[in-house]
Amino acid sequence: MVVTRFAPSPTGYLHIGGLRTALYSYLWSKKNSGKFLLRIEDTDLKRNSQEAAIAIENAFSWTNLSHDGEIIYQSTRFDIYRSYVQQLLDEGKAYRCYMSREELDELRSTQTASKIRPHYDGRYRDFEGEPPSGVEPVIRIKAPQKGEISFVDGIKGEVHFNVEDMLDDFIIARSDGTPTYNFVVTIDDALMNITDVIRGDDHLSNTPKQIVIYNALDFKIPKFYHVPMILNNQGKKLSKRDGALDVMEYKNEGYLPEALLNFLVRLGWSHGDQEIFSLEEMIELFNPTDINKSASAYNEEKLIWINSQYIKKLPSERLVEELEFFGVSIKDYPKKEELIEILRDRAKTIKELAVMVKNIVNEPTSYDEKACKKFIKGDALKNLEAFKQTLVAHGECKSASEFEILAKKFLEVKGLKLKDLAQPIRIAMVGSAVSPSVFEVLNIVGYNNVIKRIEKLLKGEEDE
Ligand code: GLU
Repeated sequence: MVVTRFAPSPTGYLHIGGLRTALYSYLWSKKNSGKFLLRIEDTDLKRNSQEAAIAIENAFSWTNLSHDGEIIYQSTRFDIYRSYVQQLLDEGKAYRCYMSREELDELRSTQTASKIRPHYDGRYRDFEGEPPSGVEPVIRIKAPQKGEISFVDGIKGEVHFNVEDMLDDFIIARSDGTPTYNFVVTIDDALMNITDVIRGDDHLSNTPKQIVIYNALDFKIPKFYHVPMILNNQGKKLSKRDGALDVMEYKNEGYLPEALLNFLVRLGWSHGDQEIFSLEEMIELFNPTDINKSASAYNEEKLIWINSQYIKKLPSERLVEELEFFGVSIKDYPKKEELIEILRDRAKTIKELAVMVKNIVNEPTSYDEKACKKFIKGDALKNLEAFKQTLVAHGECKSASEFEILAKKFLEVKGLKLKDLAQPIRIAMVGSAVSPSVFEVLNIVGYNNVIKRIEKLLKGEEDE
């Protein structure tokens, strides 16, 4: 059974890099009919907050990636961690270190002065004497002092760490008794029976430490997959300046969760040249060993394109629902289906779609100045008036084609061209010269409102 997890630290919002590793973990577990667990790493009481944890959970639930079982909060598990610290002490695999802050600083500066990597020198490893008074000890684990720690990473291949270059007897519990980061991650991954750890490669250097802990506790070491970072256009680590990084900002900008997931799956993984993947397809095709070995570049245009592809295809009821978030409710609008159909190809985001929908559903409150200058001149208003009378004389038009037939006849009789009428009508309907097919718009606005809107423009009244 494959068990994966997503383990965010609630220091802020849910980051898209985090969401990408969550997605990879989710896909891999689902592909193997396994489990995908969610753990909130909130042991750093100074940096973590409950609001951040809630924000992360909300963002996560917006993406519709579901996790199995209850969410695990590390802050509720201190007793468990303490018992494993005690076990290691009892087994002589960890020890109390009474080195004071000053001593440690002194050691560091001597080592730096002699160009040695700053590291703990193991002075309390085999200490049996009387502990110095006034120092609350930290607990250090006995790490190997020589050789290599190696593992096979599912993405990077064999990874070797030379112990002397990077390891010392590191702290597993601070002097106030709280366990350290690598310790709790390891204990939880082991107790949650995680078989496959998929995470950002910024955690690569934590892995040898975690392996030391797995070994000390005789836990089975999971498979590791360290996913290369997402970089910006300049090849630097993605930062806030590069755009929205908070998953919820994507929602605010009108991206669909499935489009964001599709974008993220492709950011670091591919299947031929296919760009659009349903979640089911991702589950079927994804394998973490196919994740790119090199970092991937964030590309906003690609995200916009993917989002527009989803807007083109999603069921209209779903788009109607999405519009609610932008304060546009067309659930009871009589021609909502047609409205969505004429606009879906034009909108790149739900936010844009919302503006377009509003423009058609609501009577214009003002008219675009440039458009008026360009198109409301000469006989434009006279023609519009005449067209209105034709409409009144004809009676209700019930479809776009009925409006079209009537308008074409009118144009023929008057010896006018479509453009002489279409732009002024657009301005009357939506306040600007930009709209989808004018007859579709007339049909959606509806016969009575069409007449009202033409009259409003003829009167030249603006609401502001
Ligand atoms: N809590 C860590 C983070 O948010 C992830 C730990 C892990 O995946 O091992 O970066």
